[in-house]
Amino acid sequence: MSVVVRYTEQGAVGIITLDNPPINASSQTVREQLKAILDSVRAQPQGIRVLMLQGAGGSFMAGADIREFELDFIPLPDPNDIHGLLESMPVPVVAAMHGHVLGGGLEMALACHYRVAHSGTQFGLPEVKLGVLPGSGGTQRLPRLLGFPLAMELIVSGKSLPAAQALKLGLLDAEFDDDWQEQALEFCISVADKNASHPMLSRLPAVLSDKDKAGLSEKIDELPAADQGGYAMREAARCVLEAAQYDFATGLARERLAFLRCKETNESKALRHAFFAQREAARIPGLNTANLALRSISKVGVIGAGTMGTGIAMSFANAGIAVVLQDLNAQTLERAQQQIHHVYQGSVTKQRLTQAQALQRINAISLTLEDTQLADCDLIIEAVFENFDIKKAIFKRLGEVAKPTAILASNTSSLDVNVLAECSGRPADVLGMHFFSPAHIMRLLEVVRGDHTAPEVLATIMSLAKRIGKVAAVSGVCFGFIGNRMLEGYLRETEFLLLEGATPAFIDKALENFGMAMGPCRMIDMAGVDVAAKVVLEQKKAGQLGADEAYRVAVQRLFELGRHGQKSGLGYYRYEGRNAVEDPAVLEVFKALAKQHDIAQRKDITADEVVQRCLYPLIAEGYRILEEGIAYRAGDIDVVWLHGYGFPAYRGGPMFYAQTLGEQHIRAQMLELAASRGNRFAYWDVPPSLGV
Ligand code: NAD
Repeated sequence: MSVVVRYTEQGAVGIITLDNPPINASSQTVREQLKAILDSVRAQPQGIRVLMLQGAGGSFMAGADIREFELDFIPLPDPNDIHGLLESMPVPVVAAMHGHVLGGGLEMALACHYRVAHSGTQFGLPEVKLGVLPGSGGTQRLPRLLGFPLAMELIVSGKSLPAAQALKLGLLDAEFDDDWQEQALEFCISVADKNASHPMLSRLPAVLSDKDKAGLSEKIDELPAADQGGYAMREAARCVLEAAQYDFATGLARERLAFLRCKETNESKALRHAFFAQREAARIPGLNTANLALRSISKVGVIGAGTMGTGIAMSFANAGIAVVLQDLNAQTLERAQQQIHHVYQGSVTKQRLTQAQALQRINAISLTLEDTQLADCDLIIEAVFENFDIKKAIFKRLGEVAKPTAILASNTSSLDVNVLAECSGRPADVLGMHFFSPAHIMRLLEVVRGDHTAPEVLATIMSLAKRIGKVAAVSGVCFGFIGNRMLEGYLRETEFLLLEGATPAFIDKALENFGMAMGPCRMIDMAGVDVAAKVVLEQKKAGQLGADEAYRVAVQRLFELGRHGQKSGLGYYRYEGRNAVEDPAVLEVFKALAKQHDIAQRKDITADEVVQRCLYPLIAEGYRILEEGIAYRAGDIDVVWLHGYGFPAYRGGPMFYAQTLGEQHIRAQMLELAASRGNRFAYWDVPPSLGV
């Protein structure tokens, strides 16, 4: 068995080092070896007057081994037993920490008598983000140490705390700078002869004042409902409050039971799936990155300084990468420059950046009218109008201008990347990089693999995505790639529901209650009705639309009427500033369209019908995407929807959600919809792989 916990001595200090790369996760083996060391020191302290617990590598301990969650039991020794051992050692135990101290790591540190850390350390109990709660004493020890309001805030939000704040709040006894390890040792010696019992170890219930209790009840009432992603938060809040109701041992036992209940919920399974799917999406089947020579990217060119180009430029500047932003239009460049200043100045005002950092990022982006300035860029991303002819011409030109080792990418939302690759005359260097708006904020990057994209080009972009803080998922070439292709059926049914008499607010509310970050009508208003309508018009032009005359007529009519969404003050809603207000005039537009297309308006549309009719086509398209090999894995599709379209994380993404609903169930419901609504245009066809 490999050694994952080491023990050494330095004078009177016994040093225990956790050494379980990459994050020192608390696994069964770690606990076994730690227990053996603690047992042996307890039996024979031999001149040891204090113990120091530290982590090797980059962190003290950045969490538990999540794979243990999949087991029905907690492999012994139980973390609570280890924590009990630490607490009851005959000599003081000091947690000397650096890097990340998260989840099980912080719970272990809380069981030590003293806590000291390097100034760059981050502390947190992020368990709720995986749909569980701190299950090894966190909810019982933290309120005893920090008081209830603060403990509740940290545990229910799952947010991290930097060392300076942790010191101020009393989580830390001392904070050190660069020579922190030496100082931590000195600290150990200074407490060597002190009594090991810490005030937190009081076995009595913690004291909760009436005022705090009232304030906390209010906060708990505001949490999401248990069936809308709030189950773990609510259970965690209850456990924290129980620290005032029960003695420590009882509180600990009840916390553990709550943890085990949380672990079995769909919410937790979905969040764990999302966590692993994101990790997995970075791996490309059949591509061994270790054997590939990745290209180095230190300068990026962006063509088109519009909405997307400007955001893309800032994504790279944020990661310290130099950018050349090129456009044909001087005014556009000026607007882009203003936008860049506005964004970074805003970050300074919000104290997210110092003035010097903001300036550095602003200076990282140089603007130009000349495409010859792109000649020394390692990667060039085209982000001009969604017009095939313009894009084809640009790729032809890039074939001449770009240096031979440069990677050429398009940010197109729907056009054929293989055709652009051919135009460049060097298709192995070409792929799609589909950013989402606003590109400097949204984390998703759909990487579109062309038929001839070279493996090292794909691998370079996947690694670059990580460098600029994006979550990347690979898609093959098809209309709309993974995300927008699935969006099509979702929007189709949204529009039919509007014609049948459901209001935009009713549809949005139904889908927001389901958990979508934003309903479809508000989403289109924000992205631009013109942008959405042009996608349909382009398909029409290319002869890709079916025979249905009523297909997505609502968005086309709003576009014709100049109702372009938030930016024009009118769209699916009327806007008072940023506030969307229901607009009776738009309902008249839909009514007239319904009449024109012979669609009967109804008064009996329910929220359930909205959710089913909008989500089933989206899910079905996901199955087709897998059947065609456009996505490598169902998890990649979920990653796209979770990070690019606001699908609720506690439902795990559309493909995971389909599993929780049951494929058979969806199949049956789609067949029922086909029967009740008619299936002349094959809208309710069930993909062969769904539910067979
Ligand atoms: P935009 O209209 O805001 O910007 C396009 C810019 O390209 C303009 O500034 C224009 O001057 C410039 N341009 C046109 N021809 C050029 C040329 N030959 N050389 C240099 N510059 C040229 O458009 P946008 O919304 O930023 O979209 C750009 C691309 O990104 C499109 O392909 C679009 O489909 C895609 N996209 C858009 C979104 C979105 O939400 N807006 C999301 C993802 C992808």
